[in-house]
Amino acid sequence: ALKEAQGQVCWALGELSASQWARRVPEIRKKPRRAYQGRLLELRGNIRVLCRLKPGSSGNLLNVDPGPGGTVTANYRGRQRQFHLDRVFPPDATQEEVFRELEPAVLSCLQGYSVCIFTYGQTGTGKTYSMEGPPEDPGIAPRALQSLFREMGAQGGPRQHRVTVSMIEIYNETVRDLLAPGPPERLTVRQGPEGCGGIHVPGLTCWDVSDLRALHKMLNLGRRNRATAATHMNEHSSRSHALVTLTLTTAPPPHGPGTAGTLHLVDLAGSERVWKAVTTESSVGVGAGARGRRLREAQTINRSLLALGGVMAALRARQPHVPFRDSQLTRLLQPALGPGATAVMLVQISSRPEDVGETVCSLKFAERVSQVELGPARRHR
Ligand code: ADP
Repeated sequence: ALKEAQGQVCWALGELSASQWARRVPEIRKKPRRAYQGRLLELRGNIRVLCRLKPGSSGNLLNVDPGPGGTVTANYRGRQRQFHLDRVFPPDATQEEVFRELEPAVLSCLQGYSVCIFTYGQTGTGKTYSMEGPPEDPGIAPRALQSLFREMGAQGGPRQHRVTVSMIEIYNETVRDLLAPGPPERLTVRQGPEGCGGIHVPGLTCWDVSDLRALHKMLNLGRRNRATAATHMNEHSSRSHALVTLTLTTAPPPHGPGTAGTLHLVDLAGSERVWKAVTTESSVGVGAGARGRRLREAQTINRSLLALGGVMAALRARQPHVPFRDSQLTRLLQPALGPGATAVMLVQISSRPEDVGETVCSLKFAERVSQVELGPARRHR
């Protein structure tokens, strides 16, 4: 009992990462952690990593042990590997269940926190399904916006808050403003004074939205702009990143300062080509020419995802230099992955037996990301 209490206190104070928790206190790993989540979000500057398995049968190649502190076991190339993550959703998990897990993080941006939720994984594993969802079963983004506006209403009405929205797409290292009044414009991400959502992108359009309907109208406009510019929409969306950024500024109450929180909702490009290139690079028996060609191809297709891997590796190793400037995506996400930010990564994995290699790559990345520490949470006033 003493060990359990100690473990829970350490975990709530953010002293144990998900994998440390799993290793050091295995016997209490499966205890419900929900009670500690609210506290955790305030105190722990780690990236929470959730995993969702797409419906389908994987035979005996993948086994999930769901729930808080969930585990995925993969049988790959005759070896059994276990991955410990903060939460694993089985194939029958509902959109509602996934959102409930994220809701405390979403609502914390009303208290002035910077929150970033991003979906990662191979194309076709359900990233867009989880983030956007079909109209009859909405995903994280529509539920998050609804929950925020409901909470703002409960906290004294929208006049107490100013909400602005921007929407960006990154395709082949080109950043485009999806909410510009004219055709989508090319932009450059710059270092400098903080702009919309903490990102300095000169010329980026930020619209004030007064209610949920106005916000959805804006997001639909952005989606239409994204689709119009693409010749092959499926190919285009699997290779591009879409970022929606909301800033929520709270008017100062009579006694005390106001707050400015940010919510980034990021649907990342498919991770498959990147990992293929990276693993080929290290595999034996592949000629240097072929390796270089593969890597160059992956870099032009998705330099941003490779750079995200580099940033996570540097943060995990606590290196003094974190290469945020290596790509447009990481530049944009720098404020969202800095000290005091709350980040949640939802890793989508396929249940198809032929995808198990990709799935193992995604899970390896996920487990490493769960060991990243961003530093203690801080509110922006
Ligand atoms: P990605 O964005 O990762 O490329 P999608 O979100 O487009 O993948 O999903 C691919 C297909 O799988 C879509 O037809 C989607 O409706 C379906 N799908 C994904 N996850 C689920 C799920 N949990 N339940 C039902 N259908 C799903």
